[in-house]
Amino acid sequence: MCFMIIGCLVSGGCFPSAEREYHDQQIVMDTLINIKVYGPDEALLKKAVAEAFGEIERIAELSDRFAQPGTPAFTASDVCRINQAAGKQPVKVSDDVFKMIELSVEYNRLSGGAFDITVAPLLDLWGWGKDVPHRVPGDAEITQTLALVDSRKILLDKTAQTVYLAEPRMSLDLGAVAKGYATQKAAEILKKSGVNKALINAGGNIVTIGRKDDKNNWQIGIEDPRDTQNIVGVLSLADEVAVTSGDYQRGFVADGVYYHHILSPQTGRPAGETWSVTVVGKDSALADVLSTALFVLGPQRGLALVENLAGVDAFFVGADQKIYVSSGLKDKVQITPGGKYTHD
Ligand code: AMP
Ligand code: MG
Repeated sequence: MCFMIIGCLVSGGCFPSAEREYHDQQIVMDTLINIKVYGPDEALLKKAVAEAFGEIERIAELSDRFAQPGTPAFTASDVCRINQAAGKQPVKVSDDVFKMIELSVEYNRLSGGAFDITVAPLLDLWGWGKDVPHRVPGDAEITQTLALVDSRKILLDKTAQTVYLAEPRMSLDLGAVAKGYATQKAAEILKKSGVNKALINAGGNIVTIGRKDDKNNWQIGIEDPRDTQNIVGVLSLADEVAVTSGDYQRGFVADGVYYHHILSPQTGRPAGETWSVTVVGKDSALADVLSTALFVLGPQRGLALVENLAGVDAFFVGADQKIYVSSGLKDKVQITPGGKYTHD
């Protein structure tokens, strides 16, 4: 008996051991991704995080649209192969890329065309390709290129799991969905590995697993899109995701004018009604799609869409310097008092 007690004290095995934190960060998809996990077994935590990063890298490779033809990375990228075969033939793809495209096509329809993964030729025109200079295109080029932007010309065959772009020179860009999809898959790996408390932060895409502690949810700050050292609000989340799209995240200046990376498929130019929008929900892939869709739609049309969808909410900072919050978010967000934005 005495021996047992001593044995327990030495090994610590009879009592719940202290919670440990393990974290790692890597740059994937041009984004610094930080994963923090908590639990008693450090070896388990470490292994789970390594597997989660492996999954994020796998999704990044499948959805990379900038791999060089003739390289192994090109063959490994479903998106490169789809784009290369535009107007020629359907391409068999992985489950993951098929799911991302299916989701994107559905939200192209639900957003009335605001979300459109066929914007790639337009992104290229603005110099959002790899290692090309940014430029402001002329009206005629924009109109011409817009003819290639149409998600209804993505033909999906679910049984064969193929994707076909119906016109030559069409191309896909999964930049608005792949990071969210990858962090969702990473979170699922962490959970399957037995991690029940974690925080994934992939530059504006946040996934929470569990709660911060017995009494508190995770507190997630929403950056001020015009002063990222400050926050405009704090979200209180547990087992939820928060994904932000913002005009401040990527952009360039030409002739004193700032141009950002989220384009309106209607005008072919950076969408102008939103400074930032944060979507809260249960699934990070869906929240990522929606954050971009709502950004393009702007606060009024965006809120109308989100109020019609179950399980998702949104926090907008509009270009009119007003904060807009969807009804389901009101008890989950604390707007910073005395801030420079007005709200109802
Ligand atoms: P996010 O940060 O999730 O809003 O994604 C922005 C990225 O999505 C851009 O860098 C582009 O790669 C891509 N993108 C830009 N405009 C659109 C659009 N209207 N629909 C879908 N993807 C877009
Ligand atoms: Mg997005």
